[in-house]
Amino acid sequence: MARGKKSAPKAARAKQKKVTKKTAPKRVAKKAPARKASAKSAARPVKYVYSFGGGRADGNAKQKNLLGGKGANLAEMASLGLPVPPGFSISTELCTYYYDHGRRYPEILDNQVRRAVAKVEKIMGKKFGDADNPLLVSVRSGARVSMPGMMDTVLNLGMNDTTIKGLAKASGNERFAWDSYRRFVQMYGDVVLGMKPEDKTQSDPFEGLIEAKKEARGIENDLDLTTDDLRELVAEFKSMVKKSTGKTFPEDPWEQLWGAVGAVFGSWMNDRAITYRRLYDIPADWGTAVNVQAMVFGNLGDDCATGVAFTRDPGNGEKAFYGEFLINAQGEDVVAGTRTPQKATLVASRIVAKASGMTEAKRKKLAPSLEELMPKAYRELRKIASTLEKHYRDMQDIEFTIERDRLFMLQTRNGKRTAASALKIACDMVKEKLIDTNTAVRRVEPAALDALLHPQVDPKAAKDVLAKGLPASPGAAAGEIVFNADDAAEAGKEGRKTILVRVETSPEDIHGMHAAEGILTARGGATSHAAVVGRGMGKPCVVGCAALRIDYKAETMRVGDRVLRAGDSITLDGATGEIFVGLVPTVDPELSGDFGKLMKWADKIRTMKVRANADTPHDAAVAREFGAEGIGLCRTEHMFFDGDRIDAVREMILADDESGRRKALAKILPMQKKDFIGIFKAMEGLPVTVRLLDPPLHEFLPHTDKEITDLAHKIGVKPKLLREKRDSLHELNPMLGHRGCRLGVTFPEIYEIQVRAIMEATCELSRKKVKVIPEIMIPLVGVDKELERLRGLAIEVAEAVKKEYRARVSYSVGTMIEVPRAAITADEVAEHADFYSFGTNDLTQMTMGLSRDDAGKFLPYYVETGILGTDPFVSLDQTGVGFLVEHAVRKAREVKKGLKCGICGEHGGDPSSVIFCHKVGLDYVSCSPFRIPIARLAAAHAALGA
Ligand code: PEP
Ligand code: MG
Repeated sequence: MARGKKSAPKAARAKQKKVTKKTAPKRVAKKAPARKASAKSAARPVKYVYSFGGGRADGNAKQKNLLGGKGANLAEMASLGLPVPPGFSISTELCTYYYDHGRRYPEILDNQVRRAVAKVEKIMGKKFGDADNPLLVSVRSGARVSMPGMMDTVLNLGMNDTTIKGLAKASGNERFAWDSYRRFVQMYGDVVLGMKPEDKTQSDPFEGLIEAKKEARGIENDLDLTTDDLRELVAEFKSMVKKSTGKTFPEDPWEQLWGAVGAVFGSWMNDRAITYRRLYDIPADWGTAVNVQAMVFGNLGDDCATGVAFTRDPGNGEKAFYGEFLINAQGEDVVAGTRTPQKATLVASRIVAKASGMTEAKRKKLAPSLEELMPKAYRELRKIASTLEKHYRDMQDIEFTIERDRLFMLQTRNGKRTAASALKIACDMVKEKLIDTNTAVRRVEPAALDALLHPQVDPKAAKDVLAKGLPASPGAAAGEIVFNADDAAEAGKEGRKTILVRVETSPEDIHGMHAAEGILTARGGATSHAAVVGRGMGKPCVVGCAALRIDYKAETMRVGDRVLRAGDSITLDGATGEIFVGLVPTVDPELSGDFGKLMKWADKIRTMKVRANADTPHDAAVAREFGAEGIGLCRTEHMFFDGDRIDAVREMILADDESGRRKALAKILPMQKKDFIGIFKAMEGLPVTVRLLDPPLHEFLPHTDKEITDLAHKIGVKPKLLREKRDSLHELNPMLGHRGCRLGVTFPEIYEIQVRAIMEATCELSRKKVKVIPEIMIPLVGVDKELERLRGLAIEVAEAVKKEYRARVSYSVGTMIEVPRAAITADEVAEHADFYSFGTNDLTQMTMGLSRDDAGKFLPYYVETGILGTDPFVSLDQTGVGFLVEHAVRKAREVKKGLKCGICGEHGGDPSSVIFCHKVGLDYVSCSPFRIPIARLAAAHAALGA
């Protein structure tokens, strides 16, 4: 399996490279297809190209499916009259066409693109390929949803030996022109011509030439390369391209453009993008758009800048403009995290300077704010940010460039945010009357709540602070240090917890970032790749820890004279940016304030109840605090293991006959009753579903010979007898063996005593005026007759207890639907049930024929390679297992209208499964206490029609 896993990406890479090289010349046409939609449009050629700029646009923000998120928002900004460099988007429909037609374009595309370029030329007053005043463009991807850094981009396109002269003249800066040319050849060579390092040990071939040049010149910094150096580098780059690819670097801007367009479409199918889509459930057939846009330059000199800003703080949600920028730089420099950016606002600049012990004078010199450096552009940026936030009624993540003091907007989108900030922003925007409560509920992803519900670093714990970086994504994460993504992924497979430590991360690291508990980088700001991806994944993340010296080769990280090695433990606090040596204890989160408010809104919206799976009074109490509306599954076997009672359980198992079993069970009865009293009290007034014994009896016996001998001595029997019993209970396939209701059928006294314990606890509490709503649940029913018989038994015992106590309590008897046959014959089974609870763990196991215990050996590979979309034990297999659930609910309610139906498998806390449960009409979901808020919010999303 390992071989297969490793070889797959390599093969894909090779294929990718071959294809991108061929795309440009393959621009052969077929007849333009007619759009399927209407007869009227069938006559017209399909519009693939949508222009924007000069105060108008063909598209708008609603057309994300067609134009991608970036293209749609660029169109919207252009229509709002904001300063957007003109350009055009080639639609996602073309991406679909491209892949459906062997990576070819329709004939009409050429004309549409030429017309769109002409519009850009007109607005800019420049010409594509012109020797005097050349138009340069950027070519970027843009899917419906943001996939940061996963696909390819080419900047400065249109540069060649002729246009370089024009650019040098127009910019009045020859070095800048050659640097732009150098960047273009490098980017194009990498992205379009596939000149990348072959594996992680090799360095980038272009960077290799730059390093060699710097060494030859005796300089360290890229900025010290002279115009002549850059001119030479361009020539060296081109000859390397010729040598490696056998082709001359394209001079024709149109050939360059088609090459870049093909590469961007091609990058939709690269390994990174495929991994990202899998992680975030993005369908491959959505495709990407390509955005071609006039270049504006943030790197023409010190009156230029480029940056990223959020209209509110994406880390904590504070209503404060939050921006970072670099003077004299291109956008990629900010995102790549290769230079640590400066703060846009004076306030933030001062806070950061203070934290790092910088004097005000030093700050002004080394890291002044945009507010101080370019006040006019800054003011305009603030105004636009506020316009955009009001327009979109959501926090915006914007990219801007300032060219010679003139501000340009390159992008806006709804900003990614931490769970904590999503919550705060949603609640604040309701207060500000920007959105209603339903929208606020929709804005918080149920799964993201997990980060809020997770423990934080214990403020009282003793800590050994190693260093401090920038807090980029909150939560505590502890684990062993790994220095590359592959090691993190490997460790993850072995169940080891890791912290991925990198100088900076790149999209190539996505699999390792996913596998690690937390991410730490030495470089980069809050908008660097690591920060953005970490937040998106809800992973604790600390970035820009400048004190950190990382040596990949030696696998060490150093802060001052302290050295930590791969395998050493560290803890990150993603909320403060602190890094601690060792594993630091954590504390539970706070569940009031905005969290409580949002939960209340969600509770008003949802129609499904949320219960907890809890087996102890403590868990029941925790569950209630999280908002549980009852217990959906109390597994009684856990009570059998506690303290001395395991001895009585074993005595029962070892008994030769019924009377021996009854004797032992009599010892268990008071203990179980006590447990039930505790749980019922904690859940006063709410239903509690108690499941009768489910696991096979051998699970209660020791297994090794040593354990058997010890137990034999303890209970005074011969070890031989114990061994014989163990062997007689052995089953080849215990999950399909003597368990669940089959135990009840063959040893009715076990269920009898359990029902008695439940009912005595109920009656005793009822005398104390504690309202108990017990639901007795029979597990693993496959045939209606099993339930008929055991229901009869349960009622007989329950009525007898009621009589003894002279109590007027009510109770119900139902079953779990875990065996496919029970689901299929749900109408027959329902005759004997007061309620159904879907045990989707077993139902998944039996429907898919996947062992819950053994599937781990191959299931991850199935998910990784796309045979299964997700792990069916995590997220319900809606078409297969879900089909049975839906069928069973419908069939059962045909004979028992309104039969109460719930789910108590692990899926009850999985957002997409919860939404499914709502759709098929379940009355409640039941999940572990910590997932209750997630289920409550998911149920609200379901009711809102998510
Ligand atoms: C189930 O099978 O879904 C269930 C809840 O029971 P258990 O996990 O205890 O088998
Ligand atoms: Mg089960």
